[in-house]
Amino acid sequence: MGALGAIMAYGTEAQQREVARRVLEEGDKPAIGMTEPNAGTDLGALGTTATEREGAYVVNGTKHWITGGGISRTNLIFARIQDKDGNDQGIGGILVDKGTPGFTVGRVEAAMGLRGIPEAELIFEDCEVPAANLVLRDPKDGFKKLMNGYNAQRVGASAVALGIAQGAHDLAIDYMCEREAFGKKLKDFQGLGWMAAQGEMRLDAARLLIYRAACNARRLANNVMLPEMREASIAKAFVGHEAFHSVSESLQMFGAAGYSSDLPLERMLRDVRMFQIGGGTSQAQLNMIARGIFSNR
Ligand SMILES: Cc1cc2nc3c(=O)[nH]c(=O)nc-3n(C[C@H](O)[C@H](O)[C@H](O)COP(=O)(O)OP(=O)(O)OC[C@H]3O[C@@H](n4cnc5c(N)ncnc54)[C@H](O)[C@@H]3O)c2cc1C
Repeated sequence: MGALGAIMAYGTEAQQREVARRVLEEGDKPAIGMTEPNAGTDLGALGTTATEREGAYVVNGTKHWITGGGISRTNLIFARIQDKDGNDQGIGGILVDKGTPGFTVGRVEAAMGLRGIPEAELIFEDCEVPAANLVLRDPKDGFKKLMNGYNAQRVGASAVALGIAQGAHDLAIDYMCEREAFGKKLKDFQGLGWMAAQGEMRLDAARLLIYRAACNARRLANNVMLPEMREASIAKAFVGHEAFHSVSESLQMFGAAGYSSDLPLERMLRDVRMFQIGGGTSQAQLNMIARGIFSNR
């Protein structure tokens, strides 16, 4: 969703049509390449360059932890755009297709969860792509615009975290109706009933924050609806934290069985942990929310 949001909002019409065709006809899942070994939260420090050269751009640099890396045909790469004299034009986005000479896939990360799709290192060595692949070159606001495109990903990721937490909660509620201890069902212990009630409150609050961010999405560019940064960050930081806590509490309800990989709870716990890191850490979201609070003070 991160790559798609940015391409649909800021890409050329030809790029939008081609990427939409790949997604709809080929099932392509466009990857977004922002993070680098020396630029994670501090994205402004990214070192990948895309330098103009005779109707083309030459990309150099290394990305890592890129979801879909190596399987996605379309890769939206964040790079420092340079004119043909090497002058910095700010951070922009450029499309690099899988299979382009000079583009190789390196290490596949040994992630603790979400193993249905790989995270990989993408290496660009004098990788030449047509100038028409440039998605955004705007020395003043390019980076800000690309990050706006990412707000859709933050809301989408929050919805995935919520889905995992809801799934774990539902399993726990069913189990509470079956499992007996001290001659009664778990659901009849007041303390456990309160744990279930608190889970219900957490999930409701998380769901409402996601809906708010999605419902208030505004038309930013190219008629594409993107959520607002503050609401997307609040949703992501809150849901990431609460979804993890909620899965942990649901796992607790199963006792030892919850800790076993015979049940899906342990996988859910590993999977849901990611949502406090990927797509911008919880601390990065809090920084953005705090910046908003104090921007006019
Ligand atoms: C499963 C998974 C999938 C991912 N997929 C993608 C992808 O598709 N594309 C992509 O580009 N990236 C992807 N990432 C990378 C992810 O976006 C980064 O890991 C994340 O932005 C954090 O960067 P970092 O790992 O370098 O941590 P760092 O930036 O080094 O942060 C380390 C710690 O310091 C904290 N920290 C750093 N700066 C500050 C600050 N200013 N204030 C407070 N705390 C701070 C962080 O919150 C964190 O706790 C993925 C990561 C994971 C785990």
